[in-house]
Amino acid sequence: MGAGFSGLMAAFDAGGLGHEVIVLEAGERVGGRVWSQALVPGDDRTIVERGAEFVLDGYRELHAVVDRLGLTLASAGMSYYVREPRGGAPTDLGSMAAIARLLGQAAERVGPDTSLAEVAASFDQDPAALEACLSRLELTNGEQADVLSSAVTLGAMSGFLPIPSQRVAGGNQGIALALAARLGSAVHLDTAVTGVEHGPDGVRVRTATGTVEADAVILTIPMAVLRHLPINPAPPPRITAAWGRATLGHNAKLHIPLRAPTVPSAVLSVPHRFWTWTATDASGQVQPVLHAFGGSPQALERLEVDQGPATWARRVAELRPELDLELDAAELTTWVDNPLAGESYSVTSTSVLAEDNELLVQPFGRVLIAGEHTGAEWSGLMEGALRSGRRAASQLQGLATQ
Ligand SMILES: Cc1cc2nc3c(=O)[nH]c(=O)nc-3n(C[C@H](O)[C@H](O)[C@H](O)COP(=O)(O)OP(=O)(O)OC[C@H]3O[C@@H](n4cnc5c(N)ncnc54)[C@H](O)[C@@H]3O)c2cc1C
Repeated sequence: MGAGFSGLMAAFDAGGLGHEVIVLEAGERVGGRVWSQALVPGDDRTIVERGAEFVLDGYRELHAVVDRLGLTLASAGMSYYVREPRGGAPTDLGSMAAIARLLGQAAERVGPDTSLAEVAASFDQDPAALEACLSRLELTNGEQADVLSSAVTLGAMSGFLPIPSQRVAGGNQGIALALAARLGSAVHLDTAVTGVEHGPDGVRVRTATGTVEADAVILTIPMAVLRHLPINPAPPPRITAAWGRATLGHNAKLHIPLRAPTVPSAVLSVPHRFWTWTATDASGQVQPVLHAFGGSPQALERLEVDQGPATWARRVAELRPELDLELDAAELTTWVDNPLAGESYSVTSTSVLAEDNELLVQPFGRVLIAGEHTGAEWSGLMEGALRSGRRAASQLQGLATQ
């Protein structure tokens, strides 16, 4: 169920293990929260990522699948990790890195059920750098510091090293398209699952147009959707309790065409909880596009994303006066109001318990669960989705031999 990275990877692996697979996808395209599109129709130089964008350090499975599918990665020419802070009290990356290190050390002392806000409140040094760090952590995690676990600061130091960033040449969705092409007629688009019944001998998966009977089902839909899926008999309460504790990030993206050439760049708006970048594509040239990513429910409300792109585009123009932006052609992508997503990705809040990673991957009966939210330390990321699909396919193998 679901043709995002996790569902397609699970199906591809399960097929490779000799299972007959059927992929049911509610949407009209594959890729889910990976969605690549030309901002200016027909102009491949303007391909943008409306969802997941950066291939980050340590993405083992993503590199492996890219190689296997004959795709390539292209340098973005800038680093996801290094963003010039603007708009707040003056600070710099060195000061931010120093505060991030201290935040990480403090988080280790208090444990993950203490919020980021509580840890930050105990700091009285360098308020400008602290505020810039909080901005960055809140927008990345799509929630405010009082909701986020202080654990989001662990490893935040790597957030300041100029590690090169990459994207899939031609668009990240190429991975989903290539996997779907190999699965062929097994992938059914426009086929929303409306309910799942399961028993010791198999499962019945209901859609608007019929019922699919199978030996097992892998549910790879986002957590925001999974919580509301009718499942009979219901999953064990300890599992649904973990589903309830999972925290849903609120993030959105904005893309604006550029009228004049520019250089690679990355700039953070400290007060408005978004960052912007210009980046190279596979041609090695900077795309004529300004990319922006913002997060937390409160920041998105202040950017008035429910009214369209205008307010955010204006804020981008204030932040980046050096760029010649075609503001009227700004394109906004929101995810929380998308019924097939309901969130941007899962985030670590104070309500998440240590045992949840294990509960989220536990099968019940012949029902298995995959998706980025089950990716443990890789959750929230394309890498987590791919790893979860592979893990679920191997669990299926265990069921088959029971
Ligand atoms: C704005 C944004 C920016 C991001 N940036 C990055 C980044 O830079 N780097 C990174 O690694 N990751 C990033 N991510 C995260 C990444 O996109 C996800 O972790 C990953 O794509 C999730 O894949 P998935 O298969 O778990 O879920 P999805 O991609 O959501 O796939 C689930 C599929 O289930 C389908 N579905 C839903 N309901 C039903 C139903 N009833 N019946 C059938 N099908 C259904 C959906 O249509 C969807 O296709 C970002 C995400 C967002 C939203």
